[in-house]
Amino acid sequence: MINGEGFETRAIHAGRDFVSDTGAVTPPVWLTSTFEYGNPGGFDYTRSGNPNFRLLERTLASLEGGQHATVFASGVSAITAVASTLRSGDLVVAEENVYGCTYRLFDKVFAKFGVSVEYLDLANPEHYARIVERRPALVWIESPTNPLLKVLDISAIATATHQAGSVLVVDNTFASSHVQRPLELGADLSLLSTTKYLNGHSDALGGVVCTNDPSWQERMVFAQKALGLQPSPMDAWLTLRGVKTLALRMERHHANALAFARFLEDESGARWVRYPWLPSHPQHEVAKRQMHGGGSGSVTVYLGMSLEETLDFVGGLRYFPKAESLGGVESLCCHPASMTHASVPRETREAVGITDAVVRFSVGIESVEDLIADVREGLRRVRKA
Ligand SMILES: *Cc1c(COP(=O)(O)O)cnc(C)c1O
Repeated sequence: MINGEGFETRAIHAGRDFVSDTGAVTPPVWLTSTFEYGNPGGFDYTRSGNPNFRLLERTLASLEGGQHATVFASGVSAITAVASTLRSGDLVVAEENVYGCTYRLFDKVFAKFGVSVEYLDLANPEHYARIVERRPALVWIESPTNPLLKVLDISAIATATHQAGSVLVVDNTFASSHVQRPLELGADLSLLSTTKYLNGHSDALGGVVCTNDPSWQERMVFAQKALGLQPSPMDAWLTLRGVKTLALRMERHHANALAFARFLEDESGARWVRYPWLPSHPQHEVAKRQMHGGGSGSVTVYLGMSLEETLDFVGGLRYFPKAESLGGVESLCCHPASMTHASVPRETREAVGITDAVVRFSVGIESVEDLIADVREGLRRVRKA
């Protein structure tokens, strides 16, 4: 690959590095569980590697600005791979608004093996000192966070983490590699659920861990095969296809989400609207510094309605099916209090701002006029009732 190639060029060409005797422009799906001994690609068994994984890994490493990437069956598999490197007695310091399944995995699984987690509000720089004081094995953050879209200063947290002799893991799912590259900001590991923006078509699950550290890469390759966390070749193929249009999709996600967020702020009567590119966002300056070309596609709003009214509103939209997940070409709508965060006790949930009237939109790449008209009509209907 030529140094200095643009993001879009790498997204399309990095995965073309395969040998074909037919001239096929796109790679086949290597649906094989095993490989004949002594093959030039060095493959042996699909649990520990497959040509579809390799093409996707090369592409994702390149897009994240890293040297190495390992792909997994899902974002949760990628999180499991990193957490499996911990030992009994280890401490993790994590952002308090971390993804629900990350919280559950530490709380219900790794706690049994003696791994503990301390949660902090890492949007507040006063809490960085606690990282240095506690010297955890890992510091685990996300930016923007789900569903409140808090933006954390990745390079400042990387500095505090390295001062503590620790390792910084950034879950980059909500931003995507086009918008934000944690390794370039000082993170040691950048982890993504490729199920979301990277694949972008809501038709495959996947995860990836990217790094510049060969010893971490070795541990991720080991976790892929030793824990059986590998994806299917078909899902790796679909994700590589999706990634080719990542830049185009993210540009439209951003343009639509910004227009949508402005509409909500100006016209909806919402108590607050969160989108990193709105000047009213509490960490707008940090967002502009560490995100490229936009604030990604999620918008969260506090409508100030009752639970019944909020659910009525969410259930009546035409272009926003009520569903978990995000980052696909189609818009989706999520009511965190009853869906993604239903297992979090009410007081804990409300203490961080996830009340019954909070709604998260994954703004897709449809015509934004239709999305706005749908929500305008939905609000009018509920407020009239
Ligand atoms: C969805 C998601 C995950 C988990 O990914 P899966 O592919 O669903 O396993 C992890 N982190 C974040 C921030 C996510 O949104």
